[in-house]
Parts: sequence; structure tokens; C-alpha cells
Amino acid sequence: MDKIKIIDLEVFAKHGVYEEEQVLGQKFLVSAILYTDTRMAGKYDDLEQSINYGSIAACITAFLQEHTFQLIETVTERLAEYLLLQTKGLKKIQLEIKKPWAPVGLPLKTVSVEIERGWQEAYIAFGSNMGNKMGYIQQAIKALKENKSIRVERVSSIIETEPYGGVEQDVFLNGCMKICTILPPLELLDVMQQLEQEAHRERIVHWGPRTLDLDLLFYGNEVMDSERLNLPHPEIEKRTFVLEPMSEIAPYYRHPVTGYTMKELLERLN
Ligand code: ADP
Ligand code: MG
Repeated sequence: MDKIKIIDLEVFAKHGVYEEEQVLGQKFLVSAILYTDTRMAGKYDDLEQSINYGSIAACITAFLQEHTFQLIETVTERLAEYLLLQTKGLKKIQLEIKKPWAPVGLPLKTVSVEIERGWQEAYIAFGSNMGNKMGYIQQAIKALKENKSIRVERVSSIIETEPYGGVEQDVFLNGCMKICTILPPLELLDVMQQLEQEAHRERIVHWGPRTLDLDLLFYGNEVMDSERLNLPHPEIEKRTFVLEPMSEIAPYYRHPVTGYTMKELLERLN
């Protein structure tokens, strides 16, 4: 990906654990590598199609001066989030904040924190087979759209499917959506499970009726297995009600482990 770099922007600000640091202030040096696509700006010599490094430098300066945090970890985290949320075309940022006058009483050149944060593409499956099914699904989509750390990019058609897993119950409404998010996988799962709870979901029977089920299918190319989260979701290949809507919104998306596209997985299942 293309990069725009700002190196060692000097800002006088008041972050630190000691009271003196928060009263007197000190020098900070900020470096930002902005990952974006500069092709169109370069091709048409048009600033509108790029990220204006002048305004980013001004934003960084204002952000550091308008807040006071104890840790440069916090300054870095919050500033990265702020820039990712408000800068069009910014896909990822590598941000380093140096504190050359850190009061440690030893002759060091500088201390610093460097992080990398960005927007990730993810897919979520939703389903409901109890009560006002369409209402629960629409409420969940609305809540995800209202979350500032999530951008809902595509929502599939909502299909009716017969229950699965051998428990006697009502038909399901199912679908999938594509989102972009700056939340890490487990924090995204927290948001999804919070929404399930708000829909008064009760886990009485495993595989049984539910007001709202939200499953994280894919999070970029992430592969992980843990108590709380398996990625990609392990049941994708077996579920027509996931592969049908996925084939509608992302037919050529490849499963990061098996390498099959959604369309191919659906054909194989049928
Ligand atoms: P299911 O979706 O299989 O019908 P539940 O919705 O009740 O079952 O989920 C049970 C557990 O699955 C949750 O506690 C959650 O932590 C875990 N889980 C593991 N991987 C995922 C994933 N990719 N998406 C959603 N939940 C997951
Ligand atoms: Mg689930």
C-alpha cells in the first residue's frame, strides 16, 4: 500500500504520570505513516483525492494540546483512533510518539511508543427464528451502523430457512453483512454479544430458538482458535443459510484456510 509520512512533528504538550509533567508540559515528537491509495491523486495531480498531510499535522498538534493523558500509550491509541475515524481514505496508520525529555533521571536519547492500527474487513452472519424476527435483525443492523467504530458496507437479502440441528422450532430468517471495523476481533465479538443480549436472547436449548444470533464469519484473513472465538467460523462450509447470502454479497471472497470462494463452497455443498 502507498504511504504518506510525517516524521518527528514537534508538539509541546502535557502528558505524563507526574504532576509536573501535567503542569509544565514537555516536548513530544510524533511520526505517522499514513497508509492510503495515492494513485488517483498522483495520476490527476489532485489533492482532493489524497490525504492532506498539512491538515493531519495540524490535527495531531491540536489533539496532543487539547488533551492530557498520563501515558503515551493512551495518547497514541486515542490519536490513532481519532485519525482513522475522521480521515477519508486512511486505511491504516503506524504512529510513534517520542518523549525525549521523559523524567527518568538517566541519560537516554528518547523513549517512545509505536502502534499500528487500521480498518479491517469482516463478515457477520445474522439469524432469528423467534418473535418479531425481521425487527430483531433490523435493530441489530441499525445498532451496528450507529457504532462509530463499525461501517456496514453491504447487507445481503434476508432469506427464510428451515431450522437446523434437529430441534423442533419455527423457520429462520438469515443473512450476512460485510463491515469494516477498527475494533479488534474480541472487541467486535463483545459488541455482537451485547446486541444479542439486548434482543433478550436466552440460551435455553443449544441449537434451539433464538431472537437474534450474530456470528462472526471472517475477520480479514485472521485464523484463531480460542475459548471465546474461532475464526473463520468453523461451520461456514456446512451452512447453506450462510453460503447463500455470502455468495450474493461476496461470491469471490476466498476462505483464508480452505482457499475456496464462497460461490465454490456453495456449489460443493449443493
Ligand atoms: P451458534 O452460533 O453456534 O448457534 P451461539 O450463538 O450460542 O451458537 O454461540 C456459542 C459461542 O460461540 C459463544 O459463546 C461464542 O463465544 C462462541 N464463538 C466462537 N467463535 C465464534 C464466532 N466466530 N462468532 C460468534 N461466536 C463464536
Ligand atoms: Mg452464534
